[in-house]
Amino acid sequence: ASNADLIAGLIRSVPDFPKPGVDFKDITPLLGSPNGFSAAIEELVRAAPEDLDVVVGIEARGFVFAAPVALALGVGFVPVRKPGKLPCEVFSKSFDLEYGRETLTIHQDAIPSGSRVMIVDDILATGGTLAATAGLLGQLGVELAQVSVLMELEALGGRRVLQDAGIDHFHAIV
Ligand code: IMP
Repeated sequence: ASNADLIAGLIRSVPDFPKPGVDFKDITPLLGSPNGFSAAIEELVRAAPEDLDVVVGIEARGFVFAAPVALALGVGFVPVRKPGKLPCEVFSKSFDLEYGRETLTIHQDAIPSGSRVMIVDDILATGGTLAATAGLLGQLGVELAQVSVLMELEALGGRRVLQDAGIDHFHAIV
């Protein structure tokens, strides 16, 4: 079977979590599988654009994928975090989520302006998280070369939200 089939087969659907009506995609079986986890990193690395300077990962599950991708590409890793976690001056963005409201932050000096950056996250749902992260990177003046996720939940329409946020290069493994 292909890497994509292997990966898709290791992400399980959990109905009504964390709220009734939400079909939660649980990536823990994938992380627990050495073959599955390495296939996921391999596919994210394969889909990366040329000449990147930085990979950005989003707390918390995004870190698990973005950091190994950065290492494999030989570029730096920069975290986007929940409020109150980063110790120096930050840019912040708040937005609505599939379930709740969220704020994300990044250090103002995290990435030199003009750098070529890829964002890696686990799941694209409504797109709010990635659109907000792209907005933070806009404040830093970097070039957003690509947004990559492991899984896109197509029914939630996130891809359109990313387009509206000016994200031209999006890639989903499954
Ligand atoms: P969005 O902002 O609605 O696109 O949600 C994406 C963010 O929420 C990602 O950072 C995911 O980690 C998380 N998320 C949303 N839905 C799910 C899910 O079904 N499983 C795991 N994470 C999810």
